[in-house]
Amino acid sequence: MFIQVCGAAREVTGSCYLVQVESTVFLVDCGMHQGGDREEALNFERFAFDPEELDFVLLTHAHIDHSGRLPRLVKQGFSGPIYATSATCDLVEIMLLDSAYIQEMEAEWQTRKARRAGRRGVDPLYTEEDARNTIPFLTPVDYRTRFEPSPGVSVLFRDAGHILGSAFLGLRLEERGEAVEVLFSGDVGQPDQPIIRDPEVVDHTDFLIMESTYGDRLHRSDGEPENELAGILQEARRTGGNVIIPAFAVGRTQELLYFLRDIFIKRGFSMPVYVDSPLASRATEVFRRHHEAFDEEAGKIVDEAGGIFDFPELHYTASADESRALNEKKGIVIISASGMADAGRIRHHLKHNLWRPEAHVVIVGFQAQGTLGRRLLDGAGTVRIFGDEIAVKAHIHDITGLSAHADQGQLLAWASHFRPPRLVILTHGEPEAATTLKRLLEERLRFTVAVAARNEVFDLGRAPRKRAEGRPSRGQ
Ligand SMILES: [Zn+2]
Ligand SMILES: [Zn+2]
Repeated sequence: MFIQVCGAAREVTGSCYLVQVESTVFLVDCGMHQGGDREEALNFERFAFDPEELDFVLLTHAHIDHSGRLPRLVKQGFSGPIYATSATCDLVEIMLLDSAYIQEMEAEWQTRKARRAGRRGVDPLYTEEDARNTIPFLTPVDYRTRFEPSPGVSVLFRDAGHILGSAFLGLRLEERGEAVEVLFSGDVGQPDQPIIRDPEVVDHTDFLIMESTYGDRLHRSDGEPENELAGILQEARRTGGNVIIPAFAVGRTQELLYFLRDIFIKRGFSMPVYVDSPLASRATEVFRRHHEAFDEEAGKIVDEAGGIFDFPELHYTASADESRALNEKKGIVIISASGMADAGRIRHHLKHNLWRPEAHVVIVGFQAQGTLGRRLLDGAGTVRIFGDEIAVKAHIHDITGLSAHADQGQLLAWASHFRPPRLVILTHGEPEAATTLKRLLEERLRFTVAVAARNEVFDLGRAPRKRAEGRPSRGQ
């Protein structure tokens, strides 16, 4: 039995693991590489395995860097169940359709460009039809209920506290009388996030495949995110400026709405709030349907007030015209995607507001290198948006306390509950983050730790040794 790390190796995107035990072969996650042209080109590469050979897929959560290549997998012959929590299944459905739409638009644009240059057009990574063909394979499973997708493999989904429906996957694998426990952390959430439950404490596993996004950083902890946000809103209301928030459509947007409701109710004022992202609007509907994944506090609000996102001046824009009309308004809050401001409607709003000294831009999530969001965080004086040079005069705020990811201290705290595993395999982090976390896990917890390289194979048998790159043949 072995695990091959097919993505998210010394990088934060492209999560995908191949697991083989006896004659069963399956994947944990099948995510998209994101960030820049180099990363996106990886999505078009051949899988390191034959999709037709896979028996099933286990999905930790709905984020596209964990689920985004599923339609390509299905298109290339995979036809087994894709197990995920029921909230994840519903979120994946809307996210894959959205992703397919983006892929088709991107390919259309590239094709026009190529034809003008006398070259052949390009095919999208996958189409809306491919995404629709993937949906029937989604198979909901419950949290905390062990099941056996095939003989010799049993799986337990536990709360990861990262986004709605997110899970740690506790696997028990059996081969020739030898049993091994493997825990995939997926993305480890930050404790005390609103709406969802905290990451569960787990105390033993033989192999721990663990994310390291914030392995070298702590979230800022001066001030509560909700108070910071309230301060910014009050200032914007005083000066009539707009508050522009680039936010991931799934998770962060709903968290912001939850805070905004709380701020307006507690502090007795309100501002018009516009959710300008069709995906965010659909995701909010999914949240409304999945009370079973809420924490106690959110559950109580549902019982007492009906909805956790309901407040008077909340609007959802649908059409591009409605989105454009927001340019004429003053003193409003706009929540729009993408979360790193490298695509989507948020770029229009930034173009119309960044140069205004009375405007506020609030960064509320991880910003990868090379993205517009990261340049703003790093203090750029001017940026280019749609070919125009835009002066940055707006106030740029950084509320990293809102991260869906555990920071360095929280990752260490979560890991400290384990009896030393046989091996910890670090993934899902830039090299600096992963190596820093490796050093700390070794020094403070005396764990044996490896930072995975892409396509590296880890043997799970007794006396584990790392194999050279390349996949052992089936049945080995
Ligand atoms: Zn995630
Ligand atoms: Zn992730």
